[in-house]
Amino acid sequence: MVKKRKKKKEKQENQNNQKNQDNPKDQQYSIEKIIPKDKFDSLIKGLYKDFKLIVPKEAENEIEFDYLDPENEKYQFPEYQNLRVSPKKFLFPQKEVLYSFEKEGTGIKIKEKEEKIDDQIIFGIRSCDARSYKILDTFFSSGKYSDPYYFSKRNKTLLIGLACNDPMSTCFCTSVGGAPFSSEGLDAILYDLGDNYIFKIISEKGIIFEKYVKEYPDVNKVDLKKKEELATSARGKIQFEINLDNIEKDLDSLFESDIWTKVARRCLSCGACSYVCPTCHCFDVQDKSDKSGGKRVRIWDNCQSSIFTLEASGHNPRNSGKERTRQRIYHKFNYYLKNYKILGCVGCGRCIKVCPTNRDLRESLKIVVETAEKA
Ligand code: SF4
Ligand code: SF4
Repeated sequence: MVKKRKKKKEKQENQNNQKNQDNPKDQQYSIEKIIPKDKFDSLIKGLYKDFKLIVPKEAENEIEFDYLDPENEKYQFPEYQNLRVSPKKFLFPQKEVLYSFEKEGTGIKIKEKEEKIDDQIIFGIRSCDARSYKILDTFFSSGKYSDPYYFSKRNKTLLIGLACNDPMSTCFCTSVGGAPFSSEGLDAILYDLGDNYIFKIISEKGIIFEKYVKEYPDVNKVDLKKKEELATSARGKIQFEINLDNIEKDLDSLFESDIWTKVARRCLSCGACSYVCPTCHCFDVQDKSDKSGGKRVRIWDNCQSSIFTLEASGHNPRNSGKERTRQRIYHKFNYYLKNYKILGCVGCGRCIKVCPTNRDLRESLKIVVETAEKA
C-alpha cells in the first residue's frame, strides 16, 4: 500500500511540475506584456478610471487588502508574501444586511436591499486566494438557489493575481492542486521579474484588460525563461508536500478513530482558523429589531465555536473540541469532495499561522494519511 502511494506521489509530482507552473488552459489568450515597474502606477491609474481597485496596502500594523484611491497616492505593491487576512470579505462581508423591515399596521413591510455595486478588481491576490473564490463560487451556487448577495458582487469583480515568488514556510498549495504560479481562477496575472512585471491575460473576461496594456511591449523569450526559473524556484520553496489523492476514502474509514483526540488536543475552539480561512463560508442569520422594525443580518459564524451546533433543547451534537476539529477536517477534505468533487482547502497556511496554540493542519493531515496507510 505504502509503495503504491509512493509511486502515485512521484507521478503526481511530475504532472504537477508541468501543470502547475502555468495553466495549460490559459494558452488560448496569448496577450503577455512587459510592464516596467516605473510605469506600474500609470497602469493602476488607467484601470482606476473604470474600476474600483482593492489592493494590498500598508495599514497600521500590517498589510491589508483595501480600496485604493490612486489619485491621492502613488501605488506600488508593498513587500508581502501573503496577507494574514484573505480578501474574502469583499464578496462575502463579515456582516451584511440582507434586507430591512418596518411595522405596517398589524404586519410588516419588507424593504429590499438597494446596493450600488461598481465594477471592481481585486488586484495582487495570490494564486491560493484566487482558487478560494472558485470554491466560494461553487458553494454559493450549489443546490436549488444561487446566493444573490454573493453573486451581486462576484459578477462585478475581476481578479488580477501576483504570482508568488516567495511562498511562506506554512504554504502547502501544491498538495491541494495549486502552485505558487498557478493562474487558475484569475482573469489576469502579474509575474514579478524584478525591474518589470509580465502582465498576462488569462480568462475571457480578462480580455477587457487588453486596452489598458496594449501600449506596452510583448514579452520576449528571455522574459519567459526568467518567469519559468522563478516558478521553479518558488515551487522549490514549498516545504511541505503530502499526497492527498485518497483523502476522501481515508477519512471515510477514520470517523470513529481515536486519532481525533490527539489531533484536537491543543484546540481552544477560538475559531481564529476559520475566520482567516479564505474558503470558510459558514454564517448565521440574525434579526436586529425594535418596536418599529429592523433588519435581517448575515454574519460569519464558525464551526469551531462550542455554540455552533448547540440546539434549543440544550443538546449539542458536537459537544467537544474533538468533534469540532474532526468536522472542520471532514468538511474540507471529505464532504467537499463528495458534494462538489473539489477540495475545500487551498493550502494558504493562514490557519497554521494564526492558531494561538500552534495547531498545524498539515500535521493533522499527515496523521490521517499515515493512520489510513497502516490500516
Ligand atoms: S485557531 Fe487553533 S485553537 Fe483556535 S479554533 Fe482553530 S485550531 Fe483551535
Ligand atoms: S484550511 Fe487553512 S490552509 Fe486551508 S484554505 Fe483554510 S486557512 Fe488556508
